[in-house]
Amino acid sequence: MQHRGQESAGIVSLNEGQHIIHRGLGLVADVFKEPELNRLQGRSSIGHNRYSTAGDNQLANAQPMTASLIKGPVALAHNGNLVNANILRKQLQEQGSIFQGTNDTECVLHLMSHAHGPDFVTAIKKILPQLEGAFSFVFLTDKALIAVRDRHGFRPLILGKKKNDNGQDAYVVASESCAFDLLGAQYVREINPGEILWIDDQGMHSEQWAQVGKLSRCVFEHVYFSRPDSIVFGQSVYESRKAFGRWLAKESGVPADVVIPVPDSGVPAAIGYSAESGVPFEFGIIRNHYVGRTFIQPHQSVRNLGVKIKLNPQTAVLSGKRVVVVDDSLVRGTTSQKIVRLIRQAGAKEVHMRIASPPTIGPCFYGVDTPQKSQLIAANQSLEQIRTFIEADTLAYLSLEGLFAAVGEKSGAGAHQKNRQNSFCAACFDGDYPTPLFE
Ligand code: SF4
Repeated sequence: MQHRGQESAGIVSLNEGQHIIHRGLGLVADVFKEPELNRLQGRSSIGHNRYSTAGDNQLANAQPMTASLIKGPVALAHNGNLVNANILRKQLQEQGSIFQGTNDTECVLHLMSHAHGPDFVTAIKKILPQLEGAFSFVFLTDKALIAVRDRHGFRPLILGKKKNDNGQDAYVVASESCAFDLLGAQYVREINPGEILWIDDQGMHSEQWAQVGKLSRCVFEHVYFSRPDSIVFGQSVYESRKAFGRWLAKESGVPADVVIPVPDSGVPAAIGYSAESGVPFEFGIIRNHYVGRTFIQPHQSVRNLGVKIKLNPQTAVLSGKRVVVVDDSLVRGTTSQKIVRLIRQAGAKEVHMRIASPPTIGPCFYGVDTPQKSQLIAANQSLEQIRTFIEADTLAYLSLEGLFAAVGEKSGAGAHQKNRQNSFCAACFDGDYPTPLFE
């Protein structure tokens, strides 16, 4: 799950009623060496990789967060972002809560400390209606592993099963199914929007803590965020990305000699584009896999350096060619400009940029670190201005209709508006935020 966050990593295990905790800033491989892993004994555990969408990059914000409540110890890992965290935080501080970090998730533990009930599941159910926004939670208490999904289903959360070493059923909960593949666990199902599911000594239990709200699964999980080898929201990310590419070719095909991806996230869409258009697919840019992903790193200075270290164009593929280059998204435009320049420096005759998602026109408030509107090039400039800025011969984005058609919604002008009501959030592309937003 390293691709979902690279700022901090943590694991909390449960051993004979006690939590064993290890968290640190950095990548999983840096945070967890042999001694830490040996120390994390127990029969249950939860883990988290963080990248900051609320709160800065400090150890106090690393997850899983832990607390010692009157009911016992609790650890919490959160995927998503609470849109009313600032209001909750202020209310809690007025009631005397003392916060350790600056992130939204800590509010949940403070709310739980005030919630009455005979057990953690009851207390959690009591506080959930106060939370607005995106949350897929896993809690580890001294008695149970508890998984919760918000009623909109913004972020994925899935249940898997495997046999443990004694031949008994063991359960696994994760954001993406690629984790199950690694563990040898079988995909069982999604945790439903509005569901609370818990696993204890008596087995697995489930309830709806809320009616399903306006279903708003994050379409950006399929565009960029999830790994292509995962099943997310019940469908293959790889197949969705290929379909984005096919729709892009249908909508904005251009005469060309070669179609190349921006590696790695543009690869499936470029394969789809090539299959639909008949233009041969090649790896025209080779990626150095030993540096981090461009989008996910928090500082512009690191990002600037990143593109140069990361991407190397192949003259043998590009020289004298009319090149279609496919990327998953275009956010600030600075990376795309550098890529177009790299391709031209390798001798390309024409460079046609194709983006396998619609223009990013707004920030995300639900757990993806898209920049502020002022930094989103498509929020501030016309298509022609962006084309000029990135120095491409032509530029085209996937339409909203194409996006929804590719993830299985009905296609056709206006059809997505009706269908998306029951399915996907695409607010960063169309400005239609599915929840109230708070200061
Ligand atoms: S605003 Fe964009 S990134 Fe955020 S949840 Fe909606 S689709 Fe996903």
